[in-house]
Amino acid sequence: MRSVKEADVRGKYVLVRVGFDVPLKNGKVVDDKRLRVSLPTISLLRKKGAKIILISHLGRPDGKVVEELRLAPVAKALSKLLKYPVLYEPDCIGSDVEERVRELHDGDVLLLENLRFYPEEEKDDKGFAQKLAAFADIYINDAFSVCHRAHASIRAITEFLPAYSGLSLEQEVKMLSSLLRNPKHPFIAIMGGAKVSDKIGVIENLLKKVDSILIGGAMMFTFYKALGYEIGKSKFESNKVALAKVLLKRGKKNIILPIDVVLNSKKAVSVHKIPKSAAGLDIGPETQAIYAELIREAKTVFWNGPMGMFENKNFAKGTAAVAKAMAKCKGITVVGGGDSVAAIEKAKLSDKFTHVSTGGGASLEFLEGKELPGIKALNENILN
Ligand code: ADP
Ligand code: MG
Repeated sequence: MRSVKEADVRGKYVLVRVGFDVPLKNGKVVDDKRLRVSLPTISLLRKKGAKIILISHLGRPDGKVVEELRLAPVAKALSKLLKYPVLYEPDCIGSDVEERVRELHDGDVLLLENLRFYPEEEKDDKGFAQKLAAFADIYINDAFSVCHRAHASIRAITEFLPAYSGLSLEQEVKMLSSLLRNPKHPFIAIMGGAKVSDKIGVIENLLKKVDSILIGGAMMFTFYKALGYEIGKSKFESNKVALAKVLLKRGKKNIILPIDVVLNSKKAVSVHKIPKSAAGLDIGPETQAIYAELIREAKTVFWNGPMGMFENKNFAKGTAAVAKAMAKCKGITVVGGGDSVAAIEKAKLSDKFTHVSTGGGASLEFLEGKELPGIKALNENILN
């Protein structure tokens, strides 16, 4: 990958793919984390005197114009963060855009409209990529969260412009690679969330690298079902029980399961004593203490997926215990996944982590050991 740091951008039109897929409420950005991570690249380009054209998607408009998914509020929020006006154009290709682009001065920033208003974007359409490329000299990908998608603004575009990586993308790749290559031991992974099926690839790949994988969330019950325990009405995946059995066999020593759970009645019980009529909604206090101890002593920790139904404060203690232990850990701490990141942001702990990934799906696919299409395109680096 060539870095934006090496790119000669002075006076040039630089097309930057960003991942501004932010939550909006009443026409306002309610969480600007995905804007903040783009600031280093945008500021660097401004300092170097580039003319900056930002492109992004927002939500799932499925190839048509959806008024609520326009990027105008994002331009406003970004202006505030940059302390510099961010211009906005309500389309992303065509002659109006071209005219607007030609009016830019060195250091100016223009945000184009939601790429996914065009169905061609998600189809990795070359014609569409060529239209995006038409008004630029250089392409920079700073949208790690979309790199697991072969979309026109991520992959096809690299066939038409010299491509470089942005600073936040580089940071993501550096941090996640360090987990796969020579991590310091003890290396602990904590996996939670709703489904085993979402995370199976990561568990399989990480089993080869970690000292222990601590399991929480609803997925623990798929494992307990595989062990023949009574799990009552707890959520589990019936079609993944066989797979859980295979994993438990393979990871005999390093898959660690909770020893107690918090039930829907808020009572904590041993995992051997889950009543038929009850559902487990969080890891119990004894498990929390064991997990916290293991995490605090680790040299490398990766976490994905909440330990319980943390949206309800009665079942949020397991997730909070993991977040706090990681915040105290002196080793490398990395968290990925939409809900786990939301949990640490809510607890105001994100600055205590070595790295908070912006890419839920992308970080998981990366840790599965897959080569992401967006990263591959940057590595192949066809044009000069
Ligand atoms: P992430 O976005 O961090 O990857 P997931 O999307 O996989 O995490 O899972 C998050 C969801 O899992 C949350 O909505 C949470 O309520 C749910 N969840 C976690 N544990 C349980 C449980 N024991 N029972 C039911 N739902 C759970
Ligand atoms: Mg999620």
